[in-house]
Amino acid sequence: MSATIDDVTAPPQVLLAHHLKSLKLPTFAREYEKVATECTRDQADYPRYLLRLCELERIERDRRNMERRIRAAKFPQTKSLDTFDFKAIPSLNKALVLELARCEWIERRENCIALGPAGTGKTHTALALGLAACQKNYSVLFVTAAALVHELMEARDERRLRLLQKHLAKVDLLIVDELGYVPFTAVGSELLFEVLSRRYEQGATLVTSNLPFDEWTSVFGSERLTGALLDRLTHHVHILEMNGDSYRLATSQKRARKRGALAPSEPNIHEVESAKGGATSED
Ligand code: ADP
Ligand code: MG
Repeated sequence: MSATIDDVTAPPQVLLAHHLKSLKLPTFAREYEKVATECTRDQADYPRYLLRLCELERIERDRRNMERRIRAAKFPQTKSLDTFDFKAIPSLNKALVLELARCEWIERRENCIALGPAGTGKTHTALALGLAACQKNYSVLFVTAAALVHELMEARDERRLRLLQKHLAKVDLLIVDELGYVPFTAVGSELLFEVLSRRYEQGATLVTSNLPFDEWTSVFGSERLTGALLDRLTHHVHILEMNGDSYRLATSQKRARKRGALAPSEPNIHEVESAKGGATSED
């Protein structure tokens, strides 16, 4: 290291600040005087003084890492399980979701598939599990199936497909949201298949879909490809069954009821669901 500060004449605080900066210990630099005062007050010895500083540096470093992971995950919004009302969706196995939030399945490179109609909290749950993974220091990438296929096609056209595939293969948890709303072209299907099958036993993948498995062929277009994909995806899988009424619709109706009675023209939730066939996007 080439010190630019005169080692002999500079006051120790200046030298210390310089060394701590080049050693990348910003919390040490910021806190050492305050912690020294505390340690004098508490009659803590030198090892304890150093230990306190190290702990503060670690906490701060973990926090910065987590923030970096959350930014890299590209979550469209922040959702956590704290704000998820499990009572609103009795079909969902709460114990399983809480277990998944501990992230051991990510360590084991397993998969998770959330299935159910629109508005039942699939994206919310996926975002919350993604956030939990970031908090446990796993790398995460959140993407919708349509956006992912679009990105893959674009990368292929621009001759940077290998690079993108590499990135998608090495992330600890890949979340593919909204599989089923948009059918893919044959090339799109192949590209998505390749990404998901490369991750088989190499990384954890979470997929959300409004379609039951037997309708996935309508998205991928090919029975052979869908079969091969499901075979890999469901080998080590946790299924989240999210069959219920749309939470959005239920809450907006609750609000409407609070404002006064539901307007006679306003349809109730079951009428809307049956009109949608329970499987179309409301996003
Ligand atoms: P889906 O992805 O299944 O279509 P979302 O997760 O997008 O549904 O949920 C729609 C909206 O309703 C979101 O704002 C989400 O936070 C909220 N929501 C859905 N289910 C719940 C729930 N059980 N508790 C709290 N909020 C919920
Ligand atoms: Mg969704």
